[in-house]
Amino acid sequence: MRFLLLFAEEVVRSAAKTVVILFGTRPEVIKLAPILEALSDHRQAVRALVVCSGQHTDLVRPFIDLFRIAVDHDLNVMQPGQTPAQVLARALSALDPLLARERPELVLVQGDTTTALAGALAGFQRQIPVAHVEAGLRSGDSSSPFPEEMNRRLITRLARYHFAATEDNRATLLAEGVPAEAIFLTGNPVVDALHTILRRETRSPLLREILEQSRPYKRLVLTTHRRENLGAPMHENLRQVRRFVETHPDVMVLFPVHLNPGVRGPAKDILSDHPRILLLPPLEYGDFIPLLANAWLIVSDSGGVQEEAPTLGTPLLVLRRTTERPEAVRCGIARLVGDHPEALGALLEEHYRSDPGKVQGQPGVNPFGQGDSAVRIVAALQSILHAHA
Ligand code: UDP
Repeated sequence: MRFLLLFAEEVVRSAAKTVVILFGTRPEVIKLAPILEALSDHRQAVRALVVCSGQHTDLVRPFIDLFRIAVDHDLNVMQPGQTPAQVLARALSALDPLLARERPELVLVQGDTTTALAGALAGFQRQIPVAHVEAGLRSGDSSSPFPEEMNRRLITRLARYHFAATEDNRATLLAEGVPAEAIFLTGNPVVDALHTILRRETRSPLLREILEQSRPYKRLVLTTHRRENLGAPMHENLRQVRRFVETHPDVMVLFPVHLNPGVRGPAKDILSDHPRILLLPPLEYGDFIPLLANAWLIVSDSGGVQEEAPTLGTPLLVLRRTTERPEAVRCGIARLVGDHPEALGALLEEHYRSDPGKVQGQPGVNPFGQGDSAVRIVAALQSILHAHA
């Protein structure tokens, strides 16, 4: 009997097409998790082979656990002080033999990380078609965000299939010569992940404590860690946040501090000894999203947060010179801070004066998706795999 079952499993497995699904950082896990979940309903047709590059380890582990992702291969590329080129080289040399062994029908990568670039290049070199989730984003400035803007341009050149979140993203790809039949308009699965979290009713003890402690105040949630903001811009931004809190006794800052020493050092030096500034560890998604939903204002250089804010209805100041997500600005939820040293302070004051209330904004229609992106992407994957049969 046991032999028959094993045999039946083997038959199903051999009929299924293998898709390598690759991630290495927090946003990739958040955005690929809904796709993995949707694929689990199609096990007989698609075998998802989950590969973690290990580009980041401590930051990523809680997200793998949260979404109950079973990792088939961990490439363990992370090393202290790693440069993007080192991550790329290590990921490529680990992926190449894996692809040769597993011979997948498709490699699926997400976004703009060095892991995603490595996956696209490794697939291309092995002549395995590559599909790209969150295709067609462009800031128009190859050095910002760095190296992500160049990564995403290169991935577009390497990939055969492109899952665009918005009409604008689709238009960008078409303008760059990507054939229309290779582009699928799917929305961004970050909105699916966000909905999953918002449906949960339980709150962790940590989140309850943070919300309780900050209840009397306007909550300003801050995240910053992008490479372009490290160094002088980081110091200046944190000083401006501190000045703003000092002059407004009804404001409290909640800052989940990224593990990068280039963020932790200045955060400790500039913000650590103020009673209305809470320096927090990086939060799990299930804590972070409700915190954003209950914020008065978000200040962040994150890409994902720009895609989440429209659903939450919380205003956002984007700590960047340019954005590859202009939809967030157009829908009225986000404003670009730019890189003038005084700009953040001025915008914080302006927001304070124009919106004295401490209640969150109104949740709105999200230009990045409606929560059904994973189902759309899986449908597209099935038609792609069918065409390759
Ligand atoms: N995030 C989180 N906890 C935190 C900070 C961020 O769960 O303490 C989530 C956030 O909601 C977003 C993602 O992590 O979905 C963003 O990751 P990051 O800013 O590292 O990357 P980016 O989106 O800029 O590529």
